[in-house]
Amino acid sequence: MPSRNILVINCGSSSIKFALVKPDQAQFAISGLAERLGSTDAVLHWQRDNAKHSLAIAGGDHRSALAHLLPMVQEAADGQLHGIGHRVVHGGERFTSAQRLDAEVIDAIRAIAPLAPLHNPASLLGIEAALALYPELPQVAVFDTAFHQTLPEHAYRYAVPQQLYREHGVRRYGFHGTSHRFVSLRAAEVTGLAVTDSSWLVAHLGNGCSTCAVVDGQSRDTSMGMTPLEGLVMGTRSGDVDPNLHSHLARTLGWSLEQTDRMLNHDSGLLGLSGLSNDMRSLEQAREQGHAGATLAIEVFCYRLSKSLAAMSCALPRLDGLIFTGGIGENSPLIRSKTVAHLRLLGLALDEDANARCIRGVSGPIQAADHPRVLVIPTNEERQIALDTLALLDT
Ligand code: ADP
Repeated sequence: MPSRNILVINCGSSSIKFALVKPDQAQFAISGLAERLGSTDAVLHWQRDNAKHSLAIAGGDHRSALAHLLPMVQEAADGQLHGIGHRVVHGGERFTSAQRLDAEVIDAIRAIAPLAPLHNPASLLGIEAALALYPELPQVAVFDTAFHQTLPEHAYRYAVPQQLYREHGVRRYGFHGTSHRFVSLRAAEVTGLAVTDSSWLVAHLGNGCSTCAVVDGQSRDTSMGMTPLEGLVMGTRSGDVDPNLHSHLARTLGWSLEQTDRMLNHDSGLLGLSGLSNDMRSLEQAREQGHAGATLAIEVFCYRLSKSLAAMSCALPRLDGLIFTGGIGENSPLIRSKTVAHLRLLGLALDEDANARCIRGVSGPIQAADHPRVLVIPTNEERQIALDTLALLDT
């Protein structure tokens, strides 16, 4: 079959990430980022054939950014764009898999927006702009939450009154599903295990971080909850804190809900703990130079991550392997080593030479001989979104 071209779009409130995926090629034919949309500094960056380009699009919004980039994408696709796959963060309980976009699906994404007030409206901006520009092209929504719709009820319910779940959807949904699915499928492939008879722990560690227990190709538990704030320490997000923190800060400091939300989502995590940076690379360098905040941030990050992985192991019948992925998981021997050191009771231990080798796209097993598998597997959410889009177009 000739190569097919799928454009993958990931919209934020003022940004669009895009990549043209040809499933039979490892590299993206063209990829890029439009950022600061809606401001006078709006700019479009793209990369093609290893060359980088930028174009100022002052005042450009989502629609005008797409109008600029779509002709370039069409050219890179030799005029043969087969479809567009949109990343949508929240699919609620309604969406258990990718969906072809039509008026009803768009209304449902809008109806779920109260659960993801920053993310779903941003996705809709991109979806509506792309549909207006290319009404004939098949377009698909791929949801971050969909993979986790297989969680059993005992894993997804909070211990709060039933009515909040039944009438207001207050439950755990989980995120990063596209990544957890992609790397667990790859793990089965590289180890020769059947997806339908395999059992993995996954640590996706980027700016956002989450763990997942994947059994027989299905998510059985995950660390993020109703929103992407629950769980691990992240770049700027706190992860788990005492749920009474909001009221404590309101009583003692007079903080509003918005102030506490902002602090927990934007000023916390690695940034808040270190007082220095949300970026793990910078923190590792600062730690080398003896920076106390960076050292503490790394210790807390790894300890909390290992506690979460140990908790996820409750959902597994056995352990076929622990997978590290995301910018930190794929590139940081230090974080992998410190995390695994806390997991002695799961029998895990690393071969530190193999661990040190797995950086910048080098992947593979890093466990010590005769210990359970630990794998470094680069994630590729764009590719998984393109494959899900193609699978729907073929039905
Ligand atoms: P996003 O969630 O935005 O896609 P990434 O998956 O790209 O983020 O991960 C970004 C994180 O990966 C940052 O904290 C960055 O510092 C970290 N990272 C990238 N390379 C390295 C490295 N060599 N060592 C440690 N951390 C790294």
